[in-house]
Amino acid sequence: MTAIAPGATIGILGGGQLGRMIAMAAAKLGLKAHIYSPDADSPAFEVAAVHTIADYEDEDALRAFAATVDVITYEFENVPARTASILAAIKPVRPDAAALAASQDRLVEKEFMTSLGILTAPFMNVESAGALARAVAQLGRPSILKTRRFGYDGKGQTQIREGSDIAVAYRSLGGVPSILEGMVPFTKEISIVAARGLDGSFAAYDVCENHHEHHILDRTIAPAGIEPHTAERGVAIAKTIADALDYVGVLAVELFLTVEDGKEVIRVNEIAPRVHNSGHWTLGGAVTSQFEQHVRAICGWPLGATTRHGTRVEMRNLIGADVLAWHDILSSGDTSLCLYGKAEERPGRKMGHTTKVFYD
Ligand code: AMP
Repeated sequence: MTAIAPGATIGILGGGQLGRMIAMAAAKLGLKAHIYSPDADSPAFEVAAVHTIADYEDEDALRAFAATVDVITYEFENVPARTASILAAIKPVRPDAAALAASQDRLVEKEFMTSLGILTAPFMNVESAGALARAVAQLGRPSILKTRRFGYDGKGQTQIREGSDIAVAYRSLGGVPSILEGMVPFTKEISIVAARGLDGSFAAYDVCENHHEHHILDRTIAPAGIEPHTAERGVAIAKTIADALDYVGVLAVELFLTVEDGKEVIRVNEIAPRVHNSGHWTLGGAVTSQFEQHVRAICGWPLGATTRHGTRVEMRNLIGADVLAWHDILSSGDTSLCLYGKAEERPGRKMGHTTKVFYD
């Protein structure tokens, strides 16, 4: 196995803010980053020693990239399986192909959770408008039709409400393989950001609670306002998933809390085999940030302490024009600002975030 030591180079697929913050964490530990992205405007390029602009299907470019790095990771779960296998033949890819397979397809993901005895939203496979009609009859309305692949921030999904036309809903997502999910009447959305090291060590951050606006994460609060035993059960779910995948790196698990028949129930919404927006509070809000933790894990290094600073930490996303308040945020004194270096503030685009540590 390639020995990874300070001075080595981490290859990162994807040039967005997550790749950028991983590269910055790598630099803190004396490592270099080589970013691979098809997009010439990638914000991560600005903070990396080397970058490659090429498609994820460009086999020559992938091989050349792999030859220059010591370990490879990624900032998004939609890395094509062929891309991962070309790279893995040359250098370790962490997390590995099993983690990608388990998280790229909502049906496979939910079947995997079920095989581990972990609850999800009720779901049914949908491959035609007829199958959708049968699934709606079974799971009821409202329910949510989601494409099996390539959905994020509420994209690739549509609600089936009373009066919704089933054929129209099916066509609206392009008629691609999908699942129908029963609506979970959640009381809270929480997530677990955790890491598993090469030696199987495991460390979770405080369970945090997430608030969305227009399907995009708006605010994360750590710790979540939940009972300690609920937090323990959430962390145990994340550990079960990480161990089952022999996972290496940071993993995020998004969960719904519900009360069913008077009992609290935890259902997994989805997993992300990568650093996650709901873990951004750890940058400045915890002893080791999720980005540093990910770098430590994929290099085979000891995991860092996940201890939170203060009594509570709040992270807010700056979406689109929110970023124009940057000067006011800087003037506030007690709020830390992180900007991603994106030139254009399009609506819905994640431009940066703020973190505030409370000590009261
Ligand atoms: P997703 O892209 O699957 O993470 O969904 C985005 C958001 O939609 C979630 O964070 C929830 O707020 C909501 N949502 C998704 N699936 C369900 C569900 N089955 N029941 C209730 N709310 C859901």
